[in-house]
Amino acid sequence: MPQTKKQTARKKAAASAPIESAVSGFQGFVPYTAKKGEKYMNPNQVAHFRAILDAWKRELMEEVDRTVHHMQDEATNFPDPNDRATQESDFTLELRTRDRERKLIRKIDEALTRLDSGDYGYCEQCGIEIGIKRLEARPTATLCIDCKTLQEIREKGIGG
Ligand SMILES: [Zn+2]
Repeated sequence: MPQTKKQTARKKAAASAPIESAVSGFQGFVPYTAKKGEKYMNPNQVAHFRAILDAWKRELMEEVDRTVHHMQDEATNFPDPNDRATQESDFTLELRTRDRERKLIRKIDEALTRLDSGDYGYCEQCGIEIGIKRLEARPTATLCIDCKTLQEIREKGIGG
């Protein structure tokens, strides 16, 4: 029997989380609009992602610089042990952030190398195109969404 069910399913707009720092992702780019029939990873697209990766890396390096300078400025002797403790936990946090930034910079460098070699934008596992949209959201992605999902399931140990 035919159903005349009204489709009221509202698609929830993916709320974009506010970006706290460059570590969360690079946002300052204009999304790429591919022309009809345009070849994947043609020179224009390569240039687009190189610009994104370069700008993101620059941002992170500046962030690292700021952290280093900040820590040098703040590295004064507090006579009060409470102040010292606060300062030390601040430093631990900053060091952790810096570590994350450094790792990300390394990933960006690897992505830039893949751009040079023509491997950028293709899944490391299965070889399919990762896709412009996914790469813009995650410029250092080396896996397609399917392989990434499988990897995450494996890492979580679900079903194993
Ligand atoms: Zn894949």
